Amino acid sequence: MDVRFLGGAREVGRSAILVDDSLLLDFGLLTGTPMQTPIETPDPDAVVVSHGHLDHAGAVPALLSGTARPPVHWTPPTRELALTLARDTLKLHGGTLQCPFTETDVQRLTQVSETHGYREPFEAAGYEVTFFNAGHIPGSAHVLVDDGDTRLLYTGDFHVDAQRLVSGTTARPDADVVLCESTYYGVSHDARSEVERRFVESVEETLWEGGTVVVPAFAIGRTQEMLLVCDAHDVPCYVDGMGKDVTRMLGNYPGFVRDADALQRATSHARFVTGRDGQRKRICQQKAAIVTTSGMLSGGPAMTYVPEVAGNPTNLVAMTGYQVEDTPGRDLLETGSAEFDGRRMPVSARVEQYDFSAHADEAGLREFLDAYRESEVLVNHGDDCERFAEDLRADGYDASAPAVGDVVSI
Ligand SMILES: [Zn+2]
Repeated sequence: MDVRFLGGAREVGRSAILVDDSLLLDFGLLTGTPMQTPIETPDPDAVVVSHGHLDHAGAVPALLSGTARPPVHWTPPTRELALTLARDTLKLHGGTLQCPFTETDVQRLTQVSETHGYREPFEAAGYEVTFFNAGHIPGSAHVLVDDGDTRLLYTGDFHVDAQRLVSGTTARPDADVVLCESTYYGVSHDARSEVERRFVESVEETLWEGGTVVVPAFAIGRTQEMLLVCDAHDVPCYVDGMGKDVTRMLGNYPGFVRDADALQRATSHARFVTGRDGQRKRICQQKAAIVTTSGMLSGGPAMTYVPEVAGNPTNLVAMTGYQVEDTPGRDLLETGSAEFDGRRMPVSARVEQYDFSAHADEAGLREFLDAYRESEVLVNHGDDCERFAEDLRADGYDASAPAVGDVVSI
């Protein structure tokens, strides 16, 4: 088996791995200006997508822009999420050089889609492929690829600990080679219950003092997690942005969330914002939490809410995820001001950061890989892949961190 890295190696973003020039695992985008696609657009016999995040599924429609129509295999939620992301990319960048696909390509995607559940082996490009629950977001999968001789386990993004929205991964299928993500190598997350307790305390205190809380959150996974947290603690909340559609959609896939009833309750508990008639400005006067995109303040209704609450130190902006360098969210955390619609604005409201991560931290990565001491380990999807591989070698693993463009024979 030859494994070729077209993206997502020694970097986070545009994940794309080509097996024997015939089976493509993921085809993502690297966000930024400009967006980056994998180093080439291959012509695979079949495509398998691990989960519905932009950096894993964002460029899949581009594979259909020529005459080829490879089947695209994924779980039902991943299909829905990938289509939602594709339509959003068209809305933001459609018709520009930035956008690697057209509306026609997205329509074709619905025709070549083939969905599969967890632990239901299927055939793709002559390989036997099986999905296992990866515990990252609804529908996320570890992908086991078996050519009858070698078994490659592509972890995709995963979490070992339970979140309210999804349970952690427990599957450790036998594999000769493990291709492992390493986003949070070198990081130790505080226990989720502790993060949640601090978040809720701060939100409740703010509301009690008459303030409003803006909770910037990614549309996929994080928005629903925050709605579940708000419902569990009876925090009044609104939801706005792309996370609204994703929340409604996930209600159709009860088998892919940890507790479908809890998600149902949280969805009813949250008030969905239409954005009509100055509704957003009025909500900013209410004692409530507003869960909204974008998670890093780079767009979405957050661009209305944050400036609106910025002037009052009683208000709170509670970030719920990692803020990438050069994003307004990171800027706000570091300087107490940020650019909104081209205008730099000081923020007197309190700004706090909570680590509601959906990835394993270093201890979690180690816990997962403990089942694979006899396997070869390839490390990808991280800022420090080489150091992690070095650590693993020092610990007795056969580990390496290929670069983009590398081919590894396994
Ligand atoms: Zn992900």
